[in-house]
Amino acid sequence: MAKTTKKRRGPHPTAKVELDVPVRVGQTVEVEITGLNHEGAGVGRIEGYTLFVDGALAGERVHARVDHVKKNFGFAKLTEVIEASTHRFLPPCPLYDRCGGCSLQHLAYEEQLRHKQQIVRDNLRRIGGFQVEGEGAITVHPTLGMSDPWRYRNKAQVPIGEENGALVGGFYAEKSHSIIDMNECLIQHQVNDEAVAVVKQAATKLNITAYDEVRHSGLLRHVVVKVGVKTGEVMVVLVTTEEQIPQRDQLVEAICTQVAGVTSIVQNINPDKTNVIFGKKTVTLWGSDVIYDYIGPIKFAISARSFYQVNPAQTEVLYNKTLEYAGATGTETVIDAYCGIGTISLFLAQKSKHVYGVEIVPEAIADANRNAQLNGVENATFEAGPAEVVIPAWKEKGIRADVIVVDPPRKGCDEALLTTILEMQPERVVYVSCNPSTLARDLKVLAERYEVKEVQPVDMFPHTGHVESVAVLVRVSIVAQEPYK
Ligand code: SAH
Repeated sequence: MAKTTKKRRGPHPTAKVELDVPVRVGQTVEVEITGLNHEGAGVGRIEGYTLFVDGALAGERVHARVDHVKKNFGFAKLTEVIEASTHRFLPPCPLYDRCGGCSLQHLAYEEQLRHKQQIVRDNLRRIGGFQVEGEGAITVHPTLGMSDPWRYRNKAQVPIGEENGALVGGFYAEKSHSIIDMNECLIQHQVNDEAVAVVKQAATKLNITAYDEVRHSGLLRHVVVKVGVKTGEVMVVLVTTEEQIPQRDQLVEAICTQVAGVTSIVQNINPDKTNVIFGKKTVTLWGSDVIYDYIGPIKFAISARSFYQVNPAQTEVLYNKTLEYAGATGTETVIDAYCGIGTISLFLAQKSKHVYGVEIVPEAIADANRNAQLNGVENATFEAGPAEVVIPAWKEKGIRADVIVVDPPRKGCDEALLTTILEMQPERVVYVSCNPSTLARDLKVLAERYEVKEVQPVDMFPHTGHVESVAVLVRVSIVAQEPYK
């Protein structure tokens, strides 16, 4: 947690240690872990006081050092496992403890999947007030996982630094600006690791400097690599503070000759003092402006800046489920709210009369239109703007939706959009969610007119705490007429 240097009124921050709780900061405690929270930390109790222990698993007895206390709960670091869970797994990544990218590598994969299913259930029950067990309960299916849950990411974004005259790249050490060098990330596509290694070596040889965040000096800030997993095409993006790259041609040649599958080398210029990765200007140094990939039969053009799902194999699983839940047969009008670059829309267009997609970022809508053209899809219309404004306008124009699909960001759907859905009364709503707590909150609102039929968690991010799921809702008046499926 970031420390604040701001002056504040009231008790000094260190006064926290005087809270009336049964543990103190710095104390080592023995604690039994009874569950895992949504971030993957073990949950234990000391005299009724909740302690979150990073790295500990349900069923374990551990020693942990308390490092933060609040009124109702505290945080501790695992120092010793006294009795280990049978589900404990030796994390294969040597940097697992320091990186922070993954949080569940120490839990057997089958158990990660069970944990994610449980998180969805718990949220539906606690936040949504839904019944998740027994007769009349919502079915929450077992999480659909990967048969090989490693090396699944198609995009690497690596900050670059310098150590003993050589360029290093990996991740920021906790609470610092220094970069820990990493040669391999086990959830990253192999070619992405290789491409980053080539850039580090070649740029070191050519005396290209790394960006220094503190001094705001140096050239190379980030290396971003994207791979089209189905096509094998690779894009290398060099994010620099200035447009001028000394010995640029030699660097480009090294990448061309040493990175397998490279079809695009792009430079993005970000001169600002910021931790945002990309700047405004992007230029193509060699090859194409885009790479291509497929999800199912649909082809996508991916540019340096465009958003694209990072686990394409599981994206296909998620979208097939979405298509199935939408129940489209070819005659339906479908709305895809929060459509991004049109991925779900184009998937749905295969089986609908017409799809309307809406998305707040205009560049993503430009990509969606381009992707529609690329696939010869003529029954999809895209509009840029907030879903909660555009969809009511469509309704005013007389557009009637049989199915509405929503795939909102973590904060969930805007309330105005939920109201519009309740007013438009599509037969089905399919809710794709990356955050089970806002999913549960929004389903509770929609439950006024809809019955939540089933929820399918899909593991898009193995070894991390992220939980993705898709839910299908059917209008109550329809459920009364004909049984679901
Ligand atoms: N369905 C897409 C993208 C989902 S991510 C896919 O599967 O790839 C959520 C998207 O919602 C982002 O692209 C974000 O830009 C967009 N978004 C956020 N707030 C929005 C709003 N109020 N109205 C419409 N789109 C919004």
